[in-house]
Amino acid sequence: METEYKITTMLLDQRWKQRPGGNRIPRYAVAHDTGNEGSTAQQNYKYFNSRNLEASAHVFIDDREILLVIPLSEKAWHVRSQVSDANDWAVGVELCHGGNIIWKEAYQRYVWFFAWLCRNYGWNPDHSVKGHFQLDHARRTDPVSAFKKYGVTFQHFLQAVEAELNTISPVDDEKKHETLYRVQIGSYRQRENALEMLKLAKKAGFDPVIIKTK
Ligand SMILES: [Zn+2]
Repeated sequence: METEYKITTMLLDQRWKQRPGGNRIPRYAVAHDTGNEGSTAQQNYKYFNSRNLEASAHVFIDDREILLVIPLSEKAWHVRSQVSDANDWAVGVELCHGGNIIWKEAYQRYVWFFAWLCRNYGWNPDHSVKGHFQLDHARRTDPVSAFKKYGVTFQHFLQAVEAELNTISPVDDEKKHETLYRVQIGSYRQRENALEMLKLAKKAGFDPVIIKTK
């Protein structure tokens, strides 16, 4: 990815209901907007870390930062449980917008972060990035309600995530000739065994890939 943004971690206290814990490898991501114009990532952090609440999300993004408040391996309450399994399996990402928040800067970080998730977990944006409005059509309009004000559709957003993701594939000329030192954990005849090791490495916090060779 061309621009690398920093992900800042400021975790909610574990005593709050909105950080119920858990240990999972997420399967998809849900795009939200805070619905609270002008509230920044920091302000959301403060609010969510001040009292027991019925809702939460993993990440808040504004024009300054990508703020991770619940580890992605843990559960968060960001979609009604009756309508989907998102709380158990999805990463909830909130876009902060409106007020003094510079839309372009916030949106770029938001797009980048979804691409980052897709790269890390090997997801295809078309299947693994959902809008909250798609999961809870009866009650929610986010994040398209925020997008609309800036002339962006959900389809544009998915295309932008895909485009961002594609910038990682081509190797540019300068890098082609660099020497790379790869760290290998193991080689396996059975794909399942490789997948098992991949899981362990992910659990340990690494970002592993499987490379097939003959
Ligand atoms: Zn939402």
